[in-house]
Amino acid sequence: MDIHCSEKELFIFNKLARAAKELDVRCYVIGGFVRDKIIGRPTKDMDIVCERDGIELAQRAATHFNPSPSVSFFKNFGTAQIKTEGLEIEFVGARKESYRAHSRNPTVEPGTLEDDQLRRDFTINAMAISLNETDFGSLVDPFNGLADIAEKIIKTPLDPIQTFSDDPLRMMRAIRFATQLGFSIDPITFEAIKEDAGRIRIISQERISDELNKILLSPKPSIGLDLLYKSGLLQIIFPKMVDLAGAEYIDGMGHKDNFYHTLQVVDNICQKTDDLWLRWAAVLHDIAKPATKKFEKDHGWTFHGHEVVGARMVPKIFSTFKLPMNEKMRFVQKMVELHLRPISLTKENITDSAIRRLLFDAGDDIESLMILCEADITSKNKFKVRRYLENFELVRNRLKEVEEKDRIRNWQPPITGEMIMEIFGLPPGRMVGDLKNAIREGILDGLIENNYDAAYAFMLHKAKELGLQPVGQ
Ligand code: ATP
Repeated sequence: MDIHCSEKELFIFNKLARAAKELDVRCYVIGGFVRDKIIGRPTKDMDIVCERDGIELAQRAATHFNPSPSVSFFKNFGTAQIKTEGLEIEFVGARKESYRAHSRNPTVEPGTLEDDQLRRDFTINAMAISLNETDFGSLVDPFNGLADIAEKIIKTPLDPIQTFSDDPLRMMRAIRFATQLGFSIDPITFEAIKEDAGRIRIISQERISDELNKILLSPKPSIGLDLLYKSGLLQIIFPKMVDLAGAEYIDGMGHKDNFYHTLQVVDNICQKTDDLWLRWAAVLHDIAKPATKKFEKDHGWTFHGHEVVGARMVPKIFSTFKLPMNEKMRFVQKMVELHLRPISLTKENITDSAIRRLLFDAGDDIESLMILCEADITSKNKFKVRRYLENFELVRNRLKEVEEKDRIRNWQPPITGEMIMEIFGLPPGRMVGDLKNAIREGILDGLIENNYDAAYAFMLHKAKELGLQPVGQ
């Protein structure tokens, strides 16, 4: 074996090799598995390429395992899969591809291993390990992927302009791999991305978003977001984010570059959470700054209301990216809308009611919100950063204190809408909502105590103002 594999992997390779020998077909492990083994990353699925029908090899290989796994296959694509030993093994016949413009769907015909390696996107993804008797375990590396791994370089095996033009998704993949692996993109390859960037338009939104999410799930997404920006791809796939870039100056007063600020907030948050949606909240927290930017003679640059406007922009952005329009989106919206609230609580003399209100508005997401706020501190001044963090620590303590006392987080007011309808004989409608809100606000503001009797008395008082009386009185 040219590369180090576990006992289990060797066990599997031997079974596959035996099946291939029985069918007299040449077969190889190829692609991401080989790359990740060499780098020393955990591997996921295993791709097997053979110089004939992948389905036939999968079916034969399955008989060598005990218990014998079932083979699922797609006849049209000539691919098959078995799940065994906790691994997904994909089988495919080697292919030769040729592309036409306007489509990323090539004409495909059977080919050799070499043809198959030629159609791979990057040198580091084109390596194969032989499972054939004559050279079992040897690395087949026609484009020096091994050297590129050592040098931490992403490079296409063939002319990059052609490679990206054939399948523009590869531009996103190049940037995604650079981000995940901490590699750089070979300058000629990167120039080609710049040149071909416009062709990303032929790629489906789902695939683009998939790559973007993988970038966001990497340890340091700023690498990828910056490469997307510098290549011109971000301008096409996410122009609203590009609008954050740059700093304007009036009367010698400038504001910070909100694009690079956002990138830093995203990196900061990635040290604290693996949650994709909280990472998205970091991406979007200042998204409405360009739309709300004003220069005021006395104050300089302001972005009043950017958190509210930003929260309103979230659904459209999620829908454009084809991200889920469900509670995940509402969570991101809530984070964007509330992201300034804890900061306002770091000032002195904060009342219990302000703290209660935040607990009520953030509910169970209060910890996520605090993580976002802490990530939002990007000052270069270490003392400032320390002071801000200490302030947030005080806010956390106050939140804890008030929560322990008032249990507001998952709280519901003691009188529900249904109760109000019954007490006053009202149909569902505005009046019921107004009374319900008045009770909630009264308790959050500390005007009345948080119990049924106090709420009931307060409700009667409010109802009277509205000309209402309980039924039967
Ligand atoms: P990951 O699983 O992290 O996405 P991977 O390299 O295994 O990494 P896959 O998308 O599973 O990625 O692809 C498997 C292999 O297929 C790649 O290593 C590469 O050789 C090849 N490949 C995938 N997509 C393309 C593409 N768009 N163009 C050319 N080759 C590709």
